[in-house]
Amino acid sequence: TIGMIAMDAQGNLSGACTTSGMAYKLHGRIGDSPIIGAGLYIDNEIGGATSTGVGEEVVRNVGSFLVVELMRQGYSPEEACKEAVMRIIKKKPETAKNIQVGFLALNKKGEYGAYAIQKGFSYAVCDSQKQDLVIKGKSYY
Ligand code: ASP
Repeated sequence: TIGMIAMDAQGNLSGACTTSGMAYKLHGRIGDSPIIGAGLYIDNEIGGATSTGVGEEVVRNVGSFLVVELMRQGYSPEEACKEAVMRIIKKKPETAKNIQVGFLALNKKGEYGAYAIQKGFSYAVCDSQKQDLVIKGKSYY
């Protein structure tokens, strides 16, 4: 999955999410990426979030919507991503040991952050000061 969240010069937010889906998926499987609120959610008043990994777990928790709502309550982007990941882990600790789910978020102030279940989740930031900065996202394991 490639998820993107963008802010324009006026501070307006937008996002996009694209995927090839999971390997060996059942015919007709949708996943989280094309579902607004799961794989991507943007609220121009608050911020935006996108996800990657096992879409079934993201859909069950309406993950990207959850991240944006947590930011609305005052969480930083990274804290919000971490809380959404923790919710997945708390509900299914055994499953979570062997799957990846990661969230990436940007708020209206231009702050960004990410968090994943497994290590190896990195993301790129591009703005007028930091061109193509690649950041190693934090993870639970
Ligand atoms: N999130 C995608 C899906 O479940 C898969 C991926 O991130 O590669 O379809």
